[in-house]
Amino acid sequence: MRLHHLNCGTLRLFRAPLVCRVLLLETDNGLVLIDTGFGMGDIEDPVTRLGPIRHLVRPDLDPAETALRQIEGMGLRPSDVRHILLTHGDPDHIGGLSDFPHARVHMSAEEARALHDQPSLPERHRYRTAQIAHGPDIVAHAPGECNWQGFAGVTVLDDIAEGLLMVPIPGHSRGHSGYAVRQGNRWLLHVGDMFYHRSTLEGGFGGMPWALRSLETLAAFDRHAIAANHHHAADLSARARNDIDIVCTHDPSGF
Ligand SMILES: [Zn+2]
Repeated sequence: MRLHHLNCGTLRLFRAPLVCRVLLLETDNGLVLIDTGFGMGDIEDPVTRLGPIRHLVRPDLDPAETALRQIEGMGLRPSDVRHILLTHGDPDHIGGLSDFPHARVHMSAEEARALHDQPSLPERHRYRTAQIAHGPDIVAHAPGECNWQGFAGVTVLDDIAEGLLMVPIPGHSRGHSGYAVRQGNRWLLHVGDMFYHRSTLEGGFGGMPWALRSLETLAAFDRHAIAANHHHAADLSARARNDIDIVCTHDPSGF
């Protein structure tokens, strides 16, 4: 399996830009995306598709940054994207779904419910139904049976690609998930918006802009869960540094 890190949306909240990290897996059974970042539909109609949040995060909305254009640029076929695994349903993570209308879209059952039913007022504001108006084929996953690295309810997704795990990390949103990808002896764990800045892995917020920290708190579905998630991330980083690489969506380090 080959793995690519794509930035599918530069955000300009602060002087230093943030990214929207998307993983592209080339597997024996086609292409798999973990999140999509922004898509062509968002660029064509940002008012309807993104709503007021675009004024806060100020995305570049550059067609060249979409997963669609980057996949084409690698000489791969967008129609070969068979599965899209979503960390959660926020607009900066799912805007590219409509660029891959034939893909099956996987997410936790809790997040699928939040995205479709928008059961609370904050959820009515955060999710944009225009991004799923094309009717994606959503596969809602109930919590799995496995424990992995201190996470419970982990689902093995070997039928999509061998060594692929869906890891429940609720907190940022109701049913937020991360994904672990085995690569030889190591794992890559994409934790989505479990944290916003790499300093969290050192057990603190050194170097994290205060405004980013405020945004992380503001966007949280469950602030107590966020705090516990940060402890878990720091503990995991210290304990399994030689076995697991942990990346989040918006930290630009590595790009
Ligand atoms: Zn995000």
